[in-house]
Amino acid sequence: MNLGFIGLGAMGVPMAERLLDAGHSLTVYDVNPAGIQALASRGVKVAKTVREVGDAVETVLLSLPTPKIVNEVCLSESGLAQGRTVRTVVDLSTTGTSMARTVQAALAARGIEFIDSPVSGGRSGAIKGTLAVMVSGPRASFDSLNDVLRHIGKLFYIGAEPGMAQTMKLANNLVSAASMAITSEAVAMGVKAGLDPKVMIDVINSGSGMNTASRDKFPKAILPRTFDFGFATALMYKDVDLCMQEAKALDAQMPVADAVHEIWRQTNEVYGGPNDFTRIAQFVEERMGIVIETPAK
Ligand code: NAD
Repeated sequence: MNLGFIGLGAMGVPMAERLLDAGHSLTVYDVNPAGIQALASRGVKVAKTVREVGDAVETVLLSLPTPKIVNEVCLSESGLAQGRTVRTVVDLSTTGTSMARTVQAALAARGIEFIDSPVSGGRSGAIKGTLAVMVSGPRASFDSLNDVLRHIGKLFYIGAEPGMAQTMKLANNLVSAASMAITSEAVAMGVKAGLDPKVMIDVINSGSGMNTASRDKFPKAILPRTFDFGFATALMYKDVDLCMQEAKALDAQMPVADAVHEIWRQTNEVYGGPNDFTRIAQFVEERMGIVIETPAK
């Protein structure tokens, strides 16, 4: 199938590569040439504008950083809404529930279907094709996208209403964000008491405290102090913030989530922008006056 792909970053490049491996052909666009260069040897067509993608294919996938950018790419005067051939836009980004609804309604008015399909599982899941792919929209559209989306991960049909998959994704990422924050605090407390963080992580991973921060992020990017897991602090904060906006809209009381939101807000102030979200451990250790490393014997 001829597909468009807009947003070739940490997630977009490996997802695009899996679609190419599966035999789909791609017309791609990104404001930054780095991602396009990563696919240069794969025979992709490179569009010079968003509009060119919307004039070339029927189905366009997005993997963009923020809701505002998704809105612009879809609805601006030079956006996909003006495209001559595009009929379906599949948003793999974390866009939030209300923006997904807004964009869906505006594109529907132009005869273009918007399917929200956020993903979870990180860059390694994107490379392996093992992402959790959450989809909301008409069931028939979900079924017809199966041959595209199954190549990037395991598909979950969340519901017919636009934004439902985004709500699912925000709930998932709140759990992930909370795991990062609380595991960092628990390990830093142990180090302050003289415990070895490596032993602590081994124990947590063999016990009831095991979570994705202790299982993946600590061994791969925090204990080795590389802080390079592949997800920006600014994006993690965006996800928690979108989740809290959704909680507010639903009048859902979430005091633990409020605390998680606050620590990510502070981490983003110090280690925001493109810094990796594993830096939250560094933020916690600086406040405790320790370094998460094996104590000298
Ligand atoms: P990223 O910042 O690495 O990539 C985003 C890409 O979009 C960049 O290449 C950027 O140049 C491009 N872009 C920005 N503005 C653009 C525009 N106007 N037109 C075209 N391209 C534009 O981000 P990422 O980590 O790949 O995440 C992408 C989305 O997936 C985000 O919504 C994120 O929350 C979500 N997500 C990320 C992860 C992860 O682990 N990195 C996991 C699950 C979901």
